[in-house]
Amino acid sequence: MFLKNYMEIAVDKVLPNIIKAFSTICACDKCILDIKAIALNNLKPHYVVTDRGELYSKVDEMKVQFETDVMKALIDAIAIVSKNPRH
Ligand SMILES: [Zn+2]
Repeated sequence: MFLKNYMEIAVDKVLPNIIKAFSTICACDKCILDIKAIALNNLKPHYVVTDRGELYSKVDEMKVQFETDVMKALIDAIAIVSKNPRH
């Protein structure tokens, strides 16, 4: 069993699609990590205790519930990083 912040998984799942949609943003490692950090700091953590197999079914259940919040946090983070890239 392990403890995992579901929001980290959700951000990893949603981010690639958003990057594709925002073709103008820089997708270097530094900017991606900055975007993730800012988005996760703005999202309320949602910890789950689970085993690996169960995690994926939980992720699907929670996806609908949190996807809008995650997308919004990522879009805000992209706006911040695009204005002040640190690369
Ligand atoms: Zn960059």
